[in-house]
Amino acid sequence: MSKTKIDGILSQFFGPDFQIGSYVKGEIIKGHGEIIEMRRAHDDTLLFSYPDADESLVKIASDAATQAGKQWWAMAAKDRGRIMYQIGAAIRQEIDNLAFIECATANKPYNDARGDVTRVAEMFEYYAGWADKLHGEVIPVPTSHLNYVCYEPLGNVMQITPWNAPLNTCGWQIAPAIAAGNAVILKPSELTPLSSMIIGLLIERAGAPKGLVSVIVGYGHTIGQAMIAGADIRKVCFVGSPMTGRHIAIAAAQRCIPAILELGGKSANIVFDDANIEQALRGAMAAIFGGTGQSCVSGSRLLIQETIYDRFVADLALASAKIRVGDPEEQGTEIGPVNNPKQYRHVCTMLEKAQAEGAVVVAGREPIPEGAGYYVNPTILNGNNEMYCAREEIFGPVVVAIPFRDEADAIRIANDSRFGLAGAVWTNNVARAHRVASKVNAGTFWINGYKSIHVSSPFGGYGDSGYGRSSGIEALREYSEVKSVWVETAENPVFSFNYGAGEE
Ligand code: NAD
Repeated sequence: MSKTKIDGILSQFFGPDFQIGSYVKGEIIKGHGEIIEMRRAHDDTLLFSYPDADESLVKIASDAATQAGKQWWAMAAKDRGRIMYQIGAAIRQEIDNLAFIECATANKPYNDARGDVTRVAEMFEYYAGWADKLHGEVIPVPTSHLNYVCYEPLGNVMQITPWNAPLNTCGWQIAPAIAAGNAVILKPSELTPLSSMIIGLLIERAGAPKGLVSVIVGYGHTIGQAMIAGADIRKVCFVGSPMTGRHIAIAAAQRCIPAILELGGKSANIVFDDANIEQALRGAMAAIFGGTGQSCVSGSRLLIQETIYDRFVADLALASAKIRVGDPEEQGTEIGPVNNPKQYRHVCTMLEKAQAEGAVVVAGREPIPEGAGYYVNPTILNGNNEMYCAREEIFGPVVVAIPFRDEADAIRIANDSRFGLAGAVWTNNVARAHRVASKVNAGTFWINGYKSIHVSSPFGGYGDSGYGRSSGIEALREYSEVKSVWVETAENPVFSFNYGAGEE
């Protein structure tokens, strides 16, 4: 059922002869490389197979972006804003279709996918408002000069996104980049390219110049690397795993271009015994099991004060057993399968290693064998912070519960990680809440909550979770060049140089 429905949706957008390929300047360009398979995680059936993109695309997409970028920047800022607002409206209009594509290919429960579509529309609407407000400023320099600073686009920007949130990360990065006047070449994960292709098309339909946003479809180590090495790009934004992030940063450094790295995490969700326990319990469930645990900000280390540890873990086990795991396309499903076979094997291996190290499985059955869908039940491990499962990303519905003694111990454990993406504290002690928030190394931190994220507020990591910031005004700065202009205003200026003014 899902394949027929996906085909129907795609032919509405791209015509009846639709084939997966790169979307550049209003056309789909089919590759001729290695065949890539997209499988349905629920039952392991083949959804699509398509060839990797060819390297000849590097010049085609790059030239298209350069040309469209000039056109875009030449427009009045308010007109760019108006088009961006229309992109948001076009996305809202396609909520059913986009949500279904995301549900069927990224394995998100349909209602969660609808939420993602709305959030992506909001990203374009938010930055639409910024398009004519990204103005410069005047600096009161101590000389006779008028000194003003203005923001200019970088030019072409390369963006690389992962499979866990394809639609969300696509809108998240494209919207601020084009609001700041840039053109974008986006390479989504080879496993989930479809929703990004549709966004590329909707951007043009809303009136953006053709070529302003190209979507390149294929592997990262082939066409992704070729783009970074060969295209005329001025910055790379990478959302993905820490290991790939390193390759990207090296490739960008070789061309002397900057990068934004939005990488993984191992976030500490800290529960004190003075918290509202019922809320903390619900928060802990959402923090780790939402999105099948395939979320960069997952609360994958659950730090529980030792006075309430046994009770809290037992209650969490009872509650997690009630989560409805199943086909993401079915109404009522709360979490779907792990996205792909490689990730499924990784989760299984991490569980085996955890048990070998002495972690005790308190909830969650054994993973269902491969071939019958890549399902892993919500799993709770009794562990400690030294274990491999507490140090590396599992990126599945698996939480490691870790006891702590007191506030200092909680902060020490939370910061004993190479990552620093997010974290949370649950307590009714206001002073403690702020103390902990100020001491935990994380780009995003919640007090008595988890996973609230909005396009208006900056997001990014400390440590191995990456660098640079997305969302908010910070993202516009990331996607801008800063120019300082000095205007001499004195009638008889005094120059700091006076060459040739000596005696004859
Ligand atoms: P990944 O690193 O395997 O792949 C991400 C993207 O990089 C894909 O498009 C892939 O094709 C591309 N890629 C792979 N190798 C490449 C190379 N050598 N050169 C250029 N591109 C290359 O990550 P994934 O498994 O798709 O995603 C999961 C990871 O993403 C997790 O670590 C998760 O925490 C992270 N993530 C981070 C954020 C954030 O905002 N910090 C958001 C979502 C996901």
